[in-house]
Amino acid sequence: MNPSHFQLHALKLVLILLFTPVFSITAIEVSPAKNPLERLTQGNQRYVTSTTVCHEDWSAKRSVLLENQKPFAVIVACSDSRVPPEIVFDQSLGDLFIVRVAGNIVDDFAIGSIEYGVNVLGANLVLVLGHSNCGAVNAALKNMKFDNHIQEVVNAIQPAIVATKGETGDLLEKAIKANVKIVEGKLKSSKPVLANLIEKGTLQILGAYYHLDSGKVEFLDKQ
Ligand SMILES: [Zn+2]
Repeated sequence: MNPSHFQLHALKLVLILLFTPVFSITAIEVSPAKNPLERLTQGNQRYVTSTTVCHEDWSAKRSVLLENQKPFAVIVACSDSRVPPEIVFDQSLGDLFIVRVAGNIVDDFAIGSIEYGVNVLGANLVLVLGHSNCGAVNAALKNMKFDNHIQEVVNAIQPAIVATKGETGDLLEKAIKANVKIVEGKLKSSKPVLANLIEKGTLQILGAYYHLDSGKVEFLDKQ
């Protein structure tokens, strides 16, 4: 190869590198699964493997969602800063309708919000998401006492501690999962909206457990 050929070749290489996008700033989930549980499962898989796609052109996405929203799932999650549902399920603006309270417990305000997400906005999956090392459940397990509103949260988690009393193994994990099941049960029997939609077969209420170490969401009662 003489020098002029070499220079030409180098120039071509520089041009190719300059015009090849290293990453796309408008990446979106191209064809999301129709089934909401499948869509969450796939999103969590992307998050776990760091192949997330939801780094969108936020300005364009905001414009699209200006007039209305149509989230495909309601997530009832803990306030814990390490478990943000949009990130762990790799979803975008407008995808998830979320209720977050320490210990992922529900009161009438929370149930009203869930009813809105389901009945008005049309989501047909409610997922109660507990997580490993949950401080709120741990406080209930250790029977910690507070002279403020934190005690209300701890009290609401007590039924899960009672349900797992006398069990062996990882009591915190068992209590966290029991708490998810209890909240799930409360929502499934909640009248008039949620219980009726379940009876009609148009709503699913499921539970899941997020692993802080791996980032994996374990579905507790996959159907
Ligand atoms: Zn928590």
